[in-house]
Amino acid sequence: MQAGKRKVVIVGTGMVGMSYAYSLLNQSVCDELVLIDVNKARAEGEAMDLNHGLAFANSSMTIYAGEYEDCADADIVVICAGVAQKPGETRLDLLKRNAEVFRSIIGPVVASGFNGIFLVATNPVDIMTRITCELSGFNAGRVLGSGTALDTARLRYLVGDYLKTDPRNIHAYVMGEHGDSEFVPWSQALLATKPILEICQEDQVCAQQGKLQEIEEEVRTAAYKIIEAKRATYYGIGMALTRITKAILGDERSVLTVSAMLKGEYGQRDVYVGVPCIINKNGVQRILPLNLTEEELDKLAKSCDTLRESYEGIF
Ligand code: NAD
Repeated sequence: MQAGKRKVVIVGTGMVGMSYAYSLLNQSVCDELVLIDVNKARAEGEAMDLNHGLAFANSSMTIYAGEYEDCADADIVVICAGVAQKPGETRLDLLKRNAEVFRSIIGPVVASGFNGIFLVATNPVDIMTRITCELSGFNAGRVLGSGTALDTARLRYLVGDYLKTDPRNIHAYVMGEHGDSEFVPWSQALLATKPILEICQEDQVCAQQGKLQEIEEEVRTAAYKIIEAKRATYYGIGMALTRITKAILGDERSVLTVSAMLKGEYGQRDVYVGVPCIINKNGVQRILPLNLTEEELDKLAKSCDTLRESYEGIF
């Protein structure tokens, strides 16, 4: 990181990229923000629009539509670029097309001399993050995905709402694939220091109605519901990316559920998956292994198997 200048490059200035950019500006997270998109006019228009908000912002950020050479001295390159699913197209075909999109991005970023952290948001995020790691040749700790950071935020909001407490006092995580095989390790969920399973057992309504399973299902299906209602999700992920960016630029050592490469943790290796990690200026400083139950370990293993199968299907 350069002294006194925090620089972020966003590749892909669609709804997710620009929600993230807007959030970075409003929270004064960096000093220089570069926007890159295959649709140059779009990136230029977005830069103009954001610049016109500077007079009302708390920061004097430099914002411009740039080129891959601008990544050379960036601290973080955040990839939100992707293509949409065509009618009748399989998930695997979409994955193959997004892998091509990433080939056209990662090569030029690395060729610029970029020596920072890659943060990936494009779906399927765990697979796209692994592809980024492979294509860049970077150390796995310097390549991370948004993983289950957003799902974890949704979980904390819903549990906090149910228990009528501040979500910031809910310490619980969504782990696994950012997708259908994700799960909540309830054995590790706490309100302050009290286990949420214990709180639920003490409350007849919670215990009898399977309230925690209901919340878990609501988290898992949240994206489907939002997409049905408004075609895409972007504000939540924009704020999740901002939170991860702050942890990196501020060398915070915060625990966030990002997509990281497992190297033996939980008995898994060679797979990118959402797990609680300690995030600092170097990216994933380390994975924080939780004491999962046998059943939870099994769920994580199944999620990892799903991700490995999808990854292998690309080639
Ligand atoms: P969008 O269609 O609005 O934007 C995608 C942008 O990528 C477009 O501006 C497009 O021009 C650009 N692009 C396409 N190919 C490119 C290339 N080769 N080089 C540079 N730019 C290129 O889509 P969106 O709604 O912003 O979603 C972006 C991605 O984020 C999708 O994959 C979506 O599924 C994902 N997403 C992830 C999460 C998460 O939790 N990780 C949440 C929501 C959305």
